[in-house]
Amino acid sequence: MPTLPLPFDQDRVREWTQQFPTPFYVYDEAAIRKNARRLQDAFAWCPSFRNHFAVKATPNPHLLEILAQEGFGSDCSSLPEMLLSEASGISGERIMFTSNDTPASEYAHARKIGAVLNLDDISHIDFVDRHAGLPELVSFRYNPGPLRQGTGNAIIGNPEEAKYGLTRDQLFDGYRQLKDRGVSRFGLHTMVVSNELNASSFVSTARMLFTLAVELLETLDIRLEWVNLGGGIGIPYLPDDQPVDLEAVGQGVHEAYDELVVPAGLDPLGVLMENGRVITGPYGYLITTAIHHKTIYKDYVGVDACMANLMRPGMYGAYHHITVLGKENAPHDTVVDVVGSLCENNDKFAIDRNLPSITAGDLLVIHDAGAHGHAMGFQYNAKLRSAELLLQEDGRTRLIRRPETVNDYFATLEHGPLTELLDSTSR
Ligand SMILES: *Cc1c(COP(=O)(O)O)cnc(C)c1O
Repeated sequence: MPTLPLPFDQDRVREWTQQFPTPFYVYDEAAIRKNARRLQDAFAWCPSFRNHFAVKATPNPHLLEILAQEGFGSDCSSLPEMLLSEASGISGERIMFTSNDTPASEYAHARKIGAVLNLDDISHIDFVDRHAGLPELVSFRYNPGPLRQGTGNAIIGNPEEAKYGLTRDQLFDGYRQLKDRGVSRFGLHTMVVSNELNASSFVSTARMLFTLAVELLETLDIRLEWVNLGGGIGIPYLPDDQPVDLEAVGQGVHEAYDELVVPAGLDPLGVLMENGRVITGPYGYLITTAIHHKTIYKDYVGVDACMANLMRPGMYGAYHHITVLGKENAPHDTVVDVVGSLCENNDKFAIDRNLPSITAGDLLVIHDAGAHGHAMGFQYNAKLRSAELLLQEDGRTRLIRRPETVNDYFATLEHGPLTELLDSTSR
């Protein structure tokens, strides 16, 4: 197993644990900023390029603020995500409201703050018109279905099986309807892959959207302002995975642009993306302490984090690399399952993993937890969500979310038998 570089060592983490009990998340600000710039540099050829960070990946305004400073917009699919964006200094059309099955009240809020409405269905033209009024700029989410087979995976599914977006016929019909109703500015969006490691897949998506942009111009005389390629750039969770060559993505999309967009007279056409995972994923870590070692038919290491803190392994069988601090160079000669305390047997961070021999008190770092990690947390089994720390660029550490308390867990119960007990204890 390779020793992946970490932005902290065991001494530093022990220092943190004096103040913040495990488990907790740590995000590396310097690395996140550097990576955000790298994506933008890859698209420097397109002056209007913007990544709308998918808020669901890491919904903490302290992180969103950093990304806003780097020039990012946001991608939201709920009212709270829009509020988080606004609180982080992201406003107006820098907020992409890519929702589905959307309640009227949320369209109304998006409309009020001038966010981009990216409609998920043709029936939403009427729905928005009735409940919020159509804005001057509207976008559609396109689902290519059978026209783009074999692109999906466990996370997002095959396009034909995915609930999102409009069919090709609906798309043309939809733009025609918008035009008839006086909409004057248009965007086009799609999202067909998730955690995709192949750079050429994003170039294919760009080709598909550029081709549609040309067709819309020719058949409906509609000039798109931008196309949004969606998110989905993957990260190397497995030690042998290769990171996506962002420069190759930018260059491939550039070539497609020169080949398809420019000759059609559509230049300048904006290019947007909605990546979450690739921006923060590799730069967030879940730190947990080993508290038990158990030997029955197999060997188990029990840690103080559980699936409620990081759901991906239990939900998708996802691999997350684990480093045992201080034992990076020790022989990885024991095979264990690393488990949490949930009464669910899929509460395992690792299965049959080769690790150095772990004793109670050892600190474990679970890698690549910076996106769709804490955010997917839940409270089943009355497990509480952990704190989030930011390792700042200046080297200091800052708490950006405190851990949940028992009181938080009970906060939504109506006044009753628990209230007195809680009042008499201060948890
Ligand atoms: C989840 C999602 C994203 C972000 O996906 P990543 O894998 O984090 O890049 C972008 N757009 C939409 C519509 C999404 O649902």
